[in-house]
Amino acid sequence: MALRLTQRLLQTQTPFLTRGYPLLVTKEKTEDVAHTKSTLHKKVTGTDIPSAQYGGRHGVTMLPGGGIGPELMTYVREIFRYCGAPIDFEVIDIDPSTEGNDDLEYAITSIKRNGVALKGNIETKSQSLAEVSRNVAIRNELDLYVNVVHCKSYPGIPARHQNVDVVLIRQNTDGEYAMLEHESVRGVVESMKVVTVENAERVARYAFEYARQNNRKKVTTIHKANIMKLSDGLFLEVANRVHKDYPELEHNNMIIDNTCMQAVSNPHQFDVMNMTNLYGTIVSNVICGLIGGAGLLSGRNYGDHYAIFEPGTRNTGTAIAGKNIANPVAMINASIDMLNHLGHKEHANVIYDATYQTIVKDAIRTPDLGGNHSSTDVVENILKILSAKRVNW
Ligand code: ATP
Repeated sequence: MALRLTQRLLQTQTPFLTRGYPLLVTKEKTEDVAHTKSTLHKKVTGTDIPSAQYGGRHGVTMLPGGGIGPELMTYVREIFRYCGAPIDFEVIDIDPSTEGNDDLEYAITSIKRNGVALKGNIETKSQSLAEVSRNVAIRNELDLYVNVVHCKSYPGIPARHQNVDVVLIRQNTDGEYAMLEHESVRGVVESMKVVTVENAERVARYAFEYARQNNRKKVTTIHKANIMKLSDGLFLEVANRVHKDYPELEHNNMIIDNTCMQAVSNPHQFDVMNMTNLYGTIVSNVICGLIGGAGLLSGRNYGDHYAIFEPGTRNTGTAIAGKNIANPVAMINASIDMLNHLGHKEHANVIYDATYQTIVKDAIRTPDLGGNHSSTDVVENILKILSAKRVNW
């Protein structure tokens, strides 16, 4: 229902979405290999048709987005070229300042064709109701109902907490992002937060299934059901019900404000978290901030048919664009997730090892990680490590 409501809104505001292809995603393809080297996603979604390959290569949509996105994508392409990753990128620039939505329509069509995208954040410049966030529109249109951010500390990286290992699982398409707002009478604005049994169940099941497949022990559902008794109450009720299918796992719940305090004071108490859309973005920013900031971790967006990989905190980084100081690691990690998802494990592993060695052992770090190196220093070190390994392939 949430999706349809959002789509109705999008139809009103962006009529292109009804042209050319059906609004509701039909069951068709994908290979949804899990982000965890297991077949979790396939198990959760029940899909097993592999994505199209051309001569053993995968086509992937690349959406550089704004701010630091384009420079980060250049680094990813250079690394892929260097290690011969069998990926052909279809690059689509979405400029939010241009009139109309042709570029967005083209991007969505491309992702539907390729099944997979690597994405930077697309800035939403206008406060006008007529301009919907392109990021939200893409997630909704592709029904990417779950977002996964694995917050795992890198040893030795300066951070407020070490040895954190929490998996954040977030409802990604409705909740507070339904984009249904109106001014009922002058001076009174109402905003709808949409929670549905269907989407609450899909994300809860994903969280419990993830925990089971990865030998995690506990799922914590985050809510504010003491105030939002119907909406968050439903989200919590569904999680409690789904938990009955996973009796070996512990399930507790925590109110969002307390969660932020607990995350800052003792993030080690969390294992897997199950959250609505807005609480998910707040908690991921808090925990990413605790263990290294916006430039380090990646995020995965999954639906039954498509997957998008991006930096975990979804920042545009406009203020640091073009200065050669943006940390490239979050986007490189997103590209590693994408390679894993497509089954290119060797390439994923070799890039992961080179990146890990660069920031952990060689301590080549950008200023956000307390270093004094440039973005290109980090990338060049990764390329140097890759070139030494190339002879052994
Ligand atoms: P805007 O869309 O206006 O850029 P935002 O709310 O999306 O703003 P950002 O400013 O993009 O947030 O990012 C938040 C903070 O994280 C900023 O201080 C930014 O410099 C920093 N940041 C984001 N990405 C990176 C990165 N890859 N490396 C280093 N710092 C980063």
